[in-house]
Amino acid sequence: MKRKFLIFSSYLVTLITTALSHTPMAFVPIRIRLYFFFPFLRAHSPFYQTLEDLPVMTKMTWMKDFDRINTVGVSLRDAEAVALTFEREPSMLPFIGNTTVLFSTGTSGNRGIQLTRSHEQSVWTGAVLAKLLPRSIFHSQKIALFLRANSQIYETINSTKIRFEYFPLGLDLQKQKERLEAYNPDIVVAPPSMLKLMSSWRIQPQKVISCAEVLSPEDRQLLEQSFQQKIHEIYQCTEGFLGASCEEGNLHLNEDMVRFEKVWIDEASRRFNVLITDPQRRTQPVVRYSLNDILVEAKGRCPCGSRFTWVERIEGRCDDIFYLVDGTMVFPDHIRRAVVAASATIEEYRVTQKAADLILIQLKTSEPRDVELVRLSLLDLFKSLTGTIPHLEFSSYDEEPVTSKKRRIKRDFL
Ligand SMILES: [Zn+2]
Repeated sequence: MKRKFLIFSSYLVTLITTALSHTPMAFVPIRIRLYFFFPFLRAHSPFYQTLEDLPVMTKMTWMKDFDRINTVGVSLRDAEAVALTFEREPSMLPFIGNTTVLFSTGTSGNRGIQLTRSHEQSVWTGAVLAKLLPRSIFHSQKIALFLRANSQIYETINSTKIRFEYFPLGLDLQKQKERLEAYNPDIVVAPPSMLKLMSSWRIQPQKVISCAEVLSPEDRQLLEQSFQQKIHEIYQCTEGFLGASCEEGNLHLNEDMVRFEKVWIDEASRRFNVLITDPQRRTQPVVRYSLNDILVEAKGRCPCGSRFTWVERIEGRCDDIFYLVDGTMVFPDHIRRAVVAASATIEEYRVTQKAADLILIQLKTSEPRDVELVRLSLLDLFKSLTGTIPHLEFSSYDEEPVTSKKRRIKRDFL
C-alpha cells in the first residue's frame, strides 16, 4: 500500500514538474529538492560530514569511499559478497537488511555496486511512468522491457492498469518473439540493436523507446521506417534516471529531478559531459558524479517548449574518443560519419583504436570494394584533422552476442 502510494505521488509530482518545465519556474523543483538534500547528506553520510566543498566523484573514487559515502553503514565487502551470491544463485535476492544491492558488470570487469531502498525504487518508478507513458496511468497499458540480465531495479512495476513484462536479452530469440507477439505490448523499451531484430515481428506498439546503447541517426531512421512512428529515447543508467524524450521525440535532461553540471569537452561542437547530483538517491548518494558520456546539445529551444537541455544525441563514451599521435581528438561521431558516408552497402561496422597510430576496422558488407572506400573516407577525415595519419587495418566483422552492449566505435588503449 505504501509502495503504491509512493509510486503514485512520485508520478503526480513528476507530471507537475514536467509541466513546469515549459515555464520560467522550470528549475524551481530541483532547487527545492537540493535544499532538503544537502543537510541530509551532511547529517547522514560520514564522508560528507566533514567536507567543506563537494568533490567531483568518478566511478573509481566513488567505489573507494563506498563505505563512508553510503548512509546505511554497509561495507563494500559485504555488498560485493551479496552481489556475487545473487549472480551465482538468482533465487537469493540481493538484500542486506532492507537495502537492495544493485550491480552492473563493467566492460573492463570492474563491477559497479550501488545501494538503494525500496522507497527510492518506488519514486524512480513513478517518475519513469510519468515521463514515458503515452497515456495516463488510469488507462490500461502493457510495457515490454528488454534488458541485460541482473537489472533487478526494473523488476517490479505492476498494478491493475499497468502491466509490465521483463525480457532478459540473450534468451532464445524465437521464444522471445513468440512471447512478445502473444503479449502484444503498447510500449516497447529496448536497446536499438534489439529493436532492429524485432522490427519484423507482429507487434503494434504505440510507443517505441530506445535505451542503453547509442542510437545512431542511421538506426533511428531505419527503426522509424519499420515501426512507422517516432523513436523515443530514455537516458537511464544505474546512477539515475537522467533523460527522456518529449512528445516531439527529442531527448531532454530530467533537470527537474537531477542537477546537471555541464563540463564542456568541445564547446564549438557543443559536446559536453555532466556531473550529476541526484537528491532522490539517499542510501548511496550520487553527488557531483562524473558520467563518462559524450552528450551533444541541440541548438535553440525544442519545439515542445521545454526549457530543459535538449540533447541532440548521446554520442558514446568519453573513453571512446580517439587520440592520435599528435594528441588530436577524434570524436566517435566523426568516425561514424566517415564510415557511413563511404558506401551504402555497409551493413555493420566496428572501428577500434588499438594504439595511437593503429586503427582496426571491421566491416560487414557484400561489396569487397567497400574496404577501399572506407579507407579513403577515413584517410580524408584524418587529413582534415591532423598531419599524422594512423595506420588502418581491416578485418572481417565478428558478430557479437545480443547480450553485450553494442559499441561500434571504441578505444582499446589508455
Ligand atoms: Zn522537447
